[in-house]
Amino acid sequence: MTEIAENKVARVHYTGTLPDSGEVFDSSEGRDPLTFLVGHKQMIPGFERELMGSKQGDKVEFTLSAEDAYGEHMPEAVQEVPSDMFGEITPEVGMTLMSDMGPFRVTAVNAETITVDFNHALAGHSLTFNVEVIEVRDASEDELSHGHAHGPGGIDH
Ligand code: ZN
Repeated sequence: MTEIAENKVARVHYTGTLPDSGEVFDSSEGRDPLTFLVGHKQMIPGFERELMGSKQGDKVEFTLSAEDAYGEHMPEAVQEVPSDMFGEITPEVGMTLMSDMGPFRVTAVNAETITVDFNHALAGHSLTFNVEVIEVRDASEDELSHGHAHGPGGIDH
């Protein structure tokens, strides 16, 4: 049976939890399996590494350090900006908004300033994944030249 390796297309169901609290932060449950071309930086680094060698039907559980997932939380990516910069939007804690510098989250609303965080919401967290391998197949030449998976769960074009 085909094993997960560089340049294979893998389809997996997964549930991601925060090991400290057990909170589920993401899951493919109720959706199509996650489909990705292995070795093309589509996934966070540790995720593919832990799945290497797995086959259809395998169930794998692993915990990644923040470094292997969404990176450390960088204090310099937390900024205070004047509240009038938001124009017609009324910022609320927990909102995710888009800017020229990418998405950010509102983490505090102060009297005249807003604290915003450009870190990924999962930066600084260890993440536990429970993964079930649904399918592993060879990638087509098109998929390899595009650098992503086509077909069900992949990019459709
Ligand atoms: Zn393509």
